[in-house]
Amino acid sequence: MTENTTGHPTDDGPIPFFSGARSVRRDWARLEARIRRVAASGRFTSGPVTAELEAAIAERTGARHAVAVANGTDALVILLRAAGIGPGDEVIVPAYTFFATASAVLHVGADPVLVDVLPGSYAMDPERAEAAITERTRAIMPVHLFSQMADMEVLKDLADRHGLLLLEDSAEGIDMRAAGTHAGLWGSGGVLSFFPTKTLGSLGDAGMLLTDDDTVAARARRLRCHGQDTDGAYVYHEIGYNSRCDELQAAFLLHRLDRLSEEIERRAELAARYDRLLAPLAPHVTTPWMAPAKSPSNQVYYVYLIECDRRDELAAHLDAHGVGTEAYYPRPLTEQPLLAPLAGSRHPVPVAAAAARRALALPLYPDLTDREADRVAALVHAFYGATS
Ligand SMILES: *Cc1c(COP(=O)(O)O)cnc(C)c1O
Repeated sequence: MTENTTGHPTDDGPIPFFSGARSVRRDWARLEARIRRVAASGRFTSGPVTAELEAAIAERTGARHAVAVANGTDALVILLRAAGIGPGDEVIVPAYTFFATASAVLHVGADPVLVDVLPGSYAMDPERAEAAITERTRAIMPVHLFSQMADMEVLKDLADRHGLLLLEDSAEGIDMRAAGTHAGLWGSGGVLSFFPTKTLGSLGDAGMLLTDDDTVAARARRLRCHGQDTDGAYVYHEIGYNSRCDELQAAFLLHRLDRLSEEIERRAELAARYDRLLAPLAPHVTTPWMAPAKSPSNQVYYVYLIECDRRDELAAHLDAHGVGTEAYYPRPLTEQPLLAPLAGSRHPVPVAAAAARRALALPLYPDLTDREADRVAALVHAFYGATS
């Protein structure tokens, strides 16, 4: 995953896959004031601004505990450790997701078991997950990808019936809710990533762990600081991590949080625009499928993902015209060199494999103008018009 923040000066220039440069420029005066305050405070990491961010995210999500760390991947590793997952345990995860979902399981010494996803939502298929349960299964960890949550009612019921922990890779899930419950809070805990391209992105890296469980939260706070015990500074009973959140990132994120609702609306507007413009290209192009909303429910377009014929050729065509795209994800995790030889990679994943050949994310972020979205759609039309 790369972050493309180049250029973006005019409506007619290149259209990067992601850029936040325009909003930073527009909001610079207010941002500068926040940055100055951090610089003048002399406290640069894990300080009062980070605590303020934790409180603001806890309030927004309804989480009892929000624990800031260095990035979303660390949050996953710490969540798994804090929930007691370790060597000998199996954790069922979907085969269609970012590598970190599975690598976090390996980091804590447990075995990821990769199962297929459902078409449309790309979320863990509950039937495939149930079929993969063994004596060693300790947890299921669904992922909420792109624009909507996995079917949490069904997955929670599955976990409960089998006495498994329910953890969520909700790295992409800020402001996504199902039946009123925010992503990450359906079971023992979840995470948020503040990687720059994410719906709530920082000016670098940051992440957070969300949980309603006091024990998980206390252990996570210890693990993020080398395992330092609460019975005293420089006292350690276990090996943790050095995973701090910078005050500067927290300050930037608090600024972005003020605009989050408005930015999410803008994302939805752009998605609706693409939907409308690309609909005539079916069946070459399939626009995102959204599960019927169960009220109160929030779907959030973090990524606008189409499925398309000749995906790599279309991406090259767009690239040649200055438009950035990302193939999220070009191969199922079962085909990753690291994971393919593992026992947990033996379940067939036809839906994930088919999606991996056809999926392409188009530029979608609050800084994108209507005109730019129109240009992207016109280029997609030109590609199929010229070649089909
Ligand atoms: C972004 C992401 C992560 C990792 O977050 P980082 O902050 O980049 O470490 C993990 N899982 C999913 C599904 C993600 O999209």
